[in-house]
Amino acid sequence: MSEDFYEVLGVSRDASEDEIKQAYRQKAREYHPDVSDHDDAEEKFKKAKKAKEVLTDDEKRRMYDQMGHERFEQAEKRGATGGGAGGAGGFGGGNPFGGGGAGGFGDMNDIFEQFFGGGGQRQRNGPRQGQDLRTRMEISLEQAFEGATKQFTLTRPEACPDCDGEGHPPSADSRTCPDCDGQGQQTRVQQTPLGRMQQTQTCRRCGGDGTIYSESCSTCGGQGVVNTEATLRVDIPAGIRTGQTLRMGREGAPGENGGPNGDLLIEVDVQEHPEFERDGDDLHYTLPISFPQAVFGDTVEIETLDGTVEVDIEKGTQSGETVRIRGEGMPRLQRRGRGALYVHLQVVTPEDLNDEQREALAQFAEAGGEEVDVGQGFFEKIKSSF
Ligand SMILES: [Zn+2]
Ligand SMILES: [Zn+2]
Repeated sequence: MSEDFYEVLGVSRDASEDEIKQAYRQKAREYHPDVSDHDDAEEKFKKAKKAKEVLTDDEKRRMYDQMGHERFEQAEKRGATGGGAGGAGGFGGGNPFGGGGAGGFGDMNDIFEQFFGGGGQRQRNGPRQGQDLRTRMEISLEQAFEGATKQFTLTRPEACPDCDGEGHPPSADSRTCPDCDGQGQQTRVQQTPLGRMQQTQTCRRCGGDGTIYSESCSTCGGQGVVNTEATLRVDIPAGIRTGQTLRMGREGAPGENGGPNGDLLIEVDVQEHPEFERDGDDLHYTLPISFPQAVFGDTVEIETLDGTVEVDIEKGTQSGETVRIRGEGMPRLQRRGRGALYVHLQVVTPEDLNDEQREALAQFAEAGGEEVDVGQGFFEKIKSSF
């Protein structure tokens, strides 16, 4: 039984490319047949390699996510052994991988058209889902703490309002594309390392529609889409971390021929905070304390991201000691509870002392049998006072 590629690498489904590569390197070290003691090392190594290859290729990964493991493997097998566009049935109507578009993904696209298309029967002018779009968003640590609704503006392709995405005025005359005979695609046969491959390409002249028009829409130049500034609002859940992605369904590029829009993916970047440093769900805070506080102990109130919390300083605290306060860190994303707040106590050595403080410290030192030079002239004063 074959395993899911994400499980093979031990990464989450929204892992970044870097995370995937890193996970692969780790597995490769562990299972590399030359170095490993594992019995099935070679097989595991191959699996990890395959998983990395698919998941680090944007287009393959998208297909993998959409099709699921089984169907993806079947599709690949079919292509690697078939060598022809026999098109033994398969994935039925629609387009199993949205987007694509004319001339889209080079060889990959051609090859996968093989798997799904079969002998030029693929419906080029059926509904197709638009592409997913990506954007980034910076938020403050406070916003990550509380969760927020954020308004933002982005420029994205939208269906042209003047032609309704058709690319031509409603009044334009249409005729069958002579280059592809209305098929929307052209086929050629090629010799490849995998055998004879029938490659199917979108017709350049009609862009896959199979129809050409006497007039193009002047607003979009016949593309059917225009770049438009859109203002959207997104709900950011409390506890989100840098690098995590929010998905806004159907806010991506417009679909074609009545297909749905793609999605908008928003990668979140949580900015650094001047006082609190984040480590997963935990927060770290540095609290300066005085020497007497360190000696005698104290209770100090500090301001957190959502109120105040009391920090107990033990008697005899050393500089650098840490107080851990449970449940005062960041909220856990989509789970109950919060991380911890670590308060790092730092004993501050005073730099400017007034006379009284100097004298007290000199006496403190003397009482401990210490000889300290507290400064010129000062000694005299102290001596004369005895
Ligand atoms: Zn238009
Ligand atoms: Zn054509």
